[in-house]
Amino acid sequence: TGAPVVRRTRTSSTCCYCGVGCGVLIDAEHVDGGPSRIVGIEGDPEHPANFGRLCTKGRNLPQTSADPAGRLTHPELRRLRNEPRHPVDWAVALDTVADRLAGIVQQHGPDAVAFYVSGQLLTEDYYVFNKLAKGLLGTNNIDTNSRLCMSSAVAGYKLALGADGPPTCYEDLELARTVLFAGSNMAYAHPVLFRRLEDARERDPEVRWIVIDPRRTDTAAMADLHLAIQPGTDVALFNGMLHHLIWEGLIDSAFIANHTEGFAELKQLVRDYTPRMAADLCGVALADLIQAAEWFGRSPAALSLYCMGLNQSAHGTDKNLALIHLHLATGQIGRPGAGPFSLTGQPNAMGGREVGGMATMLAAHREIGNEQHRAEVEQLWGLPAHTLSAKPGLSAVPLFEALRSGQVKAVWIACTNPVHSMPDIGRVREALQHAEYVIVQEAFRNTDTVPYADVLLPAATWGEKEGTVTNSERRISRVRQAVAPPGQAQPDWWIANEVARRIEARLAPPGVAPMFEFKEPSAIFDEHRSLTVGRDLDIGGIDYARLEAEGPQQWPFAAGAAAGQARRYGDGVFATASGKARFHVTPYRPVAEPTSARFPLRLLTGRLRDQWHGMSRTGRVPGLFAHSPEPGLRMQPEDAARRGLAAGELVRVISKRGELVLPLELSDEVNSGTVFAAMHWSGQFLSSGGINEVSQPAVDARSLQPELKHAAVRVEKAEFG
Ligand code: SF4
Repeated sequence: TGAPVVRRTRTSSTCCYCGVGCGVLIDAEHVDGGPSRIVGIEGDPEHPANFGRLCTKGRNLPQTSADPAGRLTHPELRRLRNEPRHPVDWAVALDTVADRLAGIVQQHGPDAVAFYVSGQLLTEDYYVFNKLAKGLLGTNNIDTNSRLCMSSAVAGYKLALGADGPPTCYEDLELARTVLFAGSNMAYAHPVLFRRLEDARERDPEVRWIVIDPRRTDTAAMADLHLAIQPGTDVALFNGMLHHLIWEGLIDSAFIANHTEGFAELKQLVRDYTPRMAADLCGVALADLIQAAEWFGRSPAALSLYCMGLNQSAHGTDKNLALIHLHLATGQIGRPGAGPFSLTGQPNAMGGREVGGMATMLAAHREIGNEQHRAEVEQLWGLPAHTLSAKPGLSAVPLFEALRSGQVKAVWIACTNPVHSMPDIGRVREALQHAEYVIVQEAFRNTDTVPYADVLLPAATWGEKEGTVTNSERRISRVRQAVAPPGQAQPDWWIANEVARRIEARLAPPGVAPMFEFKEPSAIFDEHRSLTVGRDLDIGGIDYARLEAEGPQQWPFAAGAAAGQARRYGDGVFATASGKARFHVTPYRPVAEPTSARFPLRLLTGRLRDQWHGMSRTGRVPGLFAHSPEPGLRMQPEDAARRGLAAGELVRVISKRGELVLPLELSDEVNSGTVFAAMHWSGQFLSSGGINEVSQPAVDARSLQPELKHAAVRVEKAEFG
């Protein structure tokens, strides 16, 4: 009799937004015989990423899941494109997906199928998808939205240091004496880490901050020195700084001689990059370039923090390398407070890299093109020799192009929204319209990609599933379930595993042991860690029991070790074949799309403080609009006046590929000739799909990451009727 019994629980987990990876404590209420709901959140005071702090996005996480409206709660499918989808049960949905994928593989071969997954997935989810594509179907066509985010950083680390992953840790934020931010508005994109930096500078006013960014961001406004370079000129700036370091004797010749290769060739190149030449090319004062080089070169501990401004570029690998060169030339690496620290954007971009969840990688940082690596994975997965394809898969941009041309027939999109986030989204829409079969696995109904789904698979989301993520400092944290997912939604790993088991029954050759017998995420993690043993990211010493007992752990952490490694390369031995870090010749190259008479403005894109990606979650929280209530195009006041444009007016932003309409904001944040728009606003809020209507798909030749940060545009008053 009486009121139903309400039980309260507190669950330790991890924030699902950015790569800081803050620990959270989730409060939930469970009504006996009724629903459960998340009612509160606190930062976990024990978590070594945030020590209890959360940013605005993290603090508002409960509100993103408070309202079940808009959640996908049942599988849905349609038989014909022009029919509406109808709800079906899981057995029908899973059998249908397995039949269609197996049929396409039998008819057209494994490379007619592709997967496009996400840095929002947990490591266990990523692992099963990767094994399904590469191990079972035999295609390397599995790429991820991390391609849009991190792949230039991966290429930079591998080429320079021999292995992926930062050599640094969060403690270095407190120990650095010079902090160089390059292409990172960290105050917005990694706020909790930024607070750690602020605290460190308050404790030690001698700490210097240098910000390299074409925009006067909030991070730049707090810097001791801001170099507002012309967009895309980062390599010239770093080469000019290196020239000064060499000329002034601020390099560490012993470190270069003992621990690096290729310096002579790079030195030859940077002879041409005099500080004067570099400063002119970058559009900054000579004195500022020299000051930056002096602070960096004379610092007892120089740390660089970099992100999309370097990565999202057709020359992103060179930008990463040129910055890493400053560290190698001065020996500022492998010791407390020093090193090149790439900040990951998404919560589990690192975990995806660990399991090889990209078209160009195999599990545990192995290479698709390496026969030995393929043989190792074949053996560990119990596959016959030469089963794994040696052909590199299609990375994000060519993947959707291949779908558009009909070369790829079917795509499975999980936990990401390419109709918002890919460059030149008009072509992505065409690709999905042309595709024979589109599977979308999602938690929310409001993404721009959902309407293209032939099959919708409802996924559990934050607070509803179990697994692990790896944050920017290589630290693996547990993600835990606080409440059950709504309706029939299921964890992503479960969905991939169930389809894989059904495909296995249809396609696997006799004699191959079943590969998808996973019953829980810990079993997936155990298999994943067994593949890492002896590799640079060895996590043989980390399992769920240790994470339960001792909390989040950093890799490498081999079996038998007492703890994970906070910093890498402290002994001066790098992960290259020779053990030496490698300088590369990095000439400056201009942006992929220069301005012209028809498209005279440089469009920059970036992030807002309180929004995340395409706003499928943050867009559900009214309070998160207080900081930036509306979409807008920011333009310098004189540039607007010259065009007869006024603040608040609707303007048309036009590139060679498409256009969108935005209200005009006047701002001195951008220099003359440059405009800025946030990347978040999508079809939920605009009559168009957002800023990627106009962005361009040129990619870096080595990392295959597109130049999402820069496009040539013109801006006109929007006339209607
Ligand atoms: Fe979440 Fe990142 Fe904010 Fe931490 S800093 S609470 S991980 S969004």
